[in-house]
Amino acid sequence: DHLIKLLLIGDSGVGKSSLLLRFSDSYFTTSYITTLGIDYKNRAIELDGKKIMLQVWDTAGQERFRTITTAYYRGAMGILLVYDVTDESSFNNITNWIRSIEQHSSDNIVNKILVGNKVDMDESKRAVPFSKGQALANKYGIKFFETSAKTNLNVDEAFFSIARDIKQRLPDS
Ligand code: GDP
Ligand code: MG
Repeated sequence: DHLIKLLLIGDSGVGKSSLLLRFSDSYFTTSYITTLGIDYKNRAIELDGKKIMLQVWDTAGQERFRTITTAYYRGAMGILLVYDVTDESSFNNITNWIRSIEQHSSDNIVNKILVGNKVDMDESKRAVPFSKGQALANKYGIKFFETSAKTNLNVDEAFFSIARDIKQRLPDS
């Protein structure tokens, strides 16, 4: 069986911890999840008849100070780059996060996907159109999903998609 290590990266407040809780525990809260007290959560999934353990790591808030260390990136096979569709600066910072990934994980192959979260919010609050997200993803040659941790829109789809891409490059898949 495979263990696939994934990371959630993106600005503080975009909903990384919420996406993780939704994916691993089918749970959502309106609070900032700063006291999660865990490093990662596991969820067993099945892909094309093969059992895979997804181990998804979340930051403990270090992203606020841009002090994510090389240790956090170590062993990561995939990274979900998350922004908030109602927060343009979180979108603009994705480029910086990609640069940071390149600096810290030059030794191994890392699959990436782009995730625009909080699409349940009122359309009047939207600051980043779908087309801008898609264009950025195309520029980096990665997949793009708009999600809602609150309503559970596309959350499984995003995690399964990156897991499938990783599985395809693993030795016995
Ligand atoms: P993190 O700092 O990236 O881990 O963000 P959190 O997961 O702590 O979420 C920050 C805030 O955004 C919290 O108040 C969450 O309830 C809220 N939030 C997260 N995801 C969503 C979402 O999909 N929709 C809405 N409306 N709020 C969300
Ligand atoms: Mg968090």
